[in-house]
Amino acid sequence: NDAPVAVIGLGLMGQALAGTFLKAGHPTTVWNRTTSKAGRLVAAGARLAPTVGDALRAGSVTIICLTDYQAVHELLGATDAELDGTTLINLTSGDSTQAREAARWAEQRGARYLDGAIMAIPSVIGTAEAVILHSGPQPDFEAHESTLAALGTVTYLGADHGLASLYDVAGLAMMWSVLNAWLQGTALLRTAGVDAATYAPFAQQIAAGVAGWLPGYAEQIDSGSYPAEVSALETDARAMAHLIEESEAVGVNAELPRLIKAMADRSIAAGHGGEQYPVLIEEFARPRND
Ligand code: NDP
Repeated sequence: NDAPVAVIGLGLMGQALAGTFLKAGHPTTVWNRTTSKAGRLVAAGARLAPTVGDALRAGSVTIICLTDYQAVHELLGATDAELDGTTLINLTSGDSTQAREAARWAEQRGARYLDGAIMAIPSVIGTAEAVILHSGPQPDFEAHESTLAALGTVTYLGADHGLASLYDVAGLAMMWSVLNAWLQGTALLRTAGVDAATYAPFAQQIAAGVAGWLPGYAEQIDSGSYPAEVSALETDARAMAHLIEESEAVGVNAELPRLIKAMADRSIAAGHGGEQYPVLIEEFARPRND
C-alpha cells in the first residue's frame, strides 16, 4: 500500500505517526504550526506542506493529532482549510461529545470524518503493541484500513463517532482500578515486611483470575438479572469491612476500600444484598453528586 497520506500536528505523537507512514513507504505530507518540528521528517523524505489547506489536499487521507479538540477547531476553522472532499481522521484525545461534535462539524463542511483514540506511547507506534481505536462510518474506515494498519493494531468499534473516546476512557478506568487495587494490597503487605516485588506475581494471578469472570458477569448485566451463583453482595460487603478494618489497624490508607463499601452498602439498602456483585452496575450507571 503506497497511498499518499498527510499528517497535521507534529508533536511527539504526530512525529511518530508521520515517521511510521514514511518508513512504511507512504508518500507523506506533513504540516505543523511550528515548522521546525518537521525538520527530521523532511530529512527522511516527507514533504512539508506550505499551508494546512495544502496538507488536507495532499493525501487520500489526513491524520490530525493536536493537543486537544479546541486546537483542531481553531486550526481547521480559521485558515484556508477547505474540508470539502477530504477524509479526516482525528487522533486527538478528547471525550465522546467532542468527537461527535467534531464529526458533525467536519461533515457539514463536506469531509468524511473518523474519530480515533491512540492507546499507546509514541515509541511503540508502528508495532502491534500500538492499539489505535477508530469509530465513524464503516466504509470510510475500510477504505483506509490498510493504510492505518502501518500505525499498529487498528480496531474499528462502530459508526457512533464517540465510541473511540468512550473505549479509551473505559480502558483507563480498568487500568487505574487494577493498579490502585494492587497498590492497596502492596501497602498492606509492606507493613509486614513483604516487598512489592514479592506480592506482584500473586497480585497478577488474582487479577487474571478476576478478569476471567467478566464475560459471565457481563451476561448478567446485559440480561438485568443477578442471581447469586457464587456469592451474594452482602457476603462481599462483609469482606469489604475486613479490608477497611485491616487497613485502619495496620495504619494504611482506607479511602478506596471505604468508597467500595459505600457503593455496596447503598446497593444493599436498595434491596440487592442477595444478588451477585455485578448488580452494582446500578450504582455505577447514575451520577452521585455528594
Ligand atoms: P505535543 O504537546 O507533543 O504536541 C501537540 C501538537 O499540537 C503540536 O503539534 C502543536 O503544535 C499542536 N497544536 C496545539 N495547539 C495548536 C493550535 N492551536 N493550532 C495548531 N496546532 C496546535 O502532544 P502529543 O503529540 O504528545 O499529543 C497529541 C495528541 O495525542 C494529544 O491529544 C494526546 O493526548 C494524544 N496522545 C498522546 C500520547 C503520548 O504518549 N504522547 C499517547 C496517546 C495519545 P506546535 O508544535 O506548533 O506547538
